[in-house]
Amino acid sequence: MASRLKRALKKKQSRTQCSLHPSWPKQIQLEVANSCNQDCLFCFINTMKRSKKRMDLEFGRRIMTEAYEEGSRVISFAAGAEPLMHPNLDAFIRIAKQELNYDYVFLTTNGMVTQKKLSRWDQFIEAGLESVKISINAGDRETYKKVHRRDHFDQVIASIKHLSKLKKKYDFFLGVSSVSLPQNEESITHLEPLIGHLVDEVLVVPADNQSGQMIEYDTFISENCKLPFTRIYVTAEGYLRMCCGDMENFLAVEDLNQMSLKEAFYSERTTEFRRRHLEKNLEGTLCYRCLNSVQDPIEPLNPDIADRWSHSIEIISKSA
Ligand code: SF4
Repeated sequence: MASRLKRALKKKQSRTQCSLHPSWPKQIQLEVANSCNQDCLFCFINTMKRSKKRMDLEFGRRIMTEAYEEGSRVISFAAGAEPLMHPNLDAFIRIAKQELNYDYVFLTTNGMVTQKKLSRWDQFIEAGLESVKISINAGDRETYKKVHRRDHFDQVIASIKHLSKLKKKYDFFLGVSSVSLPQNEESITHLEPLIGHLVDEVLVVPADNQSGQMIEYDTFISENCKLPFTRIYVTAEGYLRMCCGDMENFLAVEDLNQMSLKEAFYSERTTEFRRRHLEKNLEGTLCYRCLNSVQDPIEPLNPDIADRWSHSIEIISKSA
């Protein structure tokens, strides 16, 4: 009975969330940097043609403040790329936790810092980081080199060991996640015995099609997607984007350098895109590729923003 009630409530809640004018999202994710120091087999980021950028700290403060004032309480500094690529990541965390008092501040990262810079972890935790999830897609150095196409296995394990020591002093969540592929299936079984005792969780997930950008991995095919209704993603350039995984800003809707976050979240263009989701009229968008795992040609939602990346648009359309 209780579970039937729970299911009904969940259904009702999901209907309320996925409306043309959804309630303000609890969670916001800032893409503080749009680059990565790894080159994983299953990831699209290093074929991205968009210019490499880091988010301006004052712009980030403004967006975090606006989101908090509207009701967001959970914040992350990753949205598809690698947050450690921003040299002032600790300052973003400090603003979120100490100045604005977000309830939960978390990070998903590849965990790569050099031996000399292991103290960055101390800075992040002291600034208020409450959860770190490290993506490590192999259980040994050789497989790691093949999957990540970088020789960083030992440094990432050193990060996990360092964070595990910090857990004795600070209260935070430490997790590890792996994307499973034919190339690493056997190797990732070694992760649990290697680092399971150091972390709170070891999670394995199958590779997905990366928001329609890597359709050779077609395991994520779903009828509905709630992201455009329930999350806020802000790109390194300062755009409101409808998806964390969209590496070329095909789903960037508004320029937050020109308007407030609230104006952008409820703008006509954003609402029209939600209408297309609700009516399942997504042909010609990245979402159509993602939900159907097809290579159809796509158009950006906001040509004024995407025009600047016309080269990348051409590349993606050519592969159709
Ligand atoms: S359907 Fe669209 S918003 Fe949802 S995960 Fe796919 S690309 Fe992202």
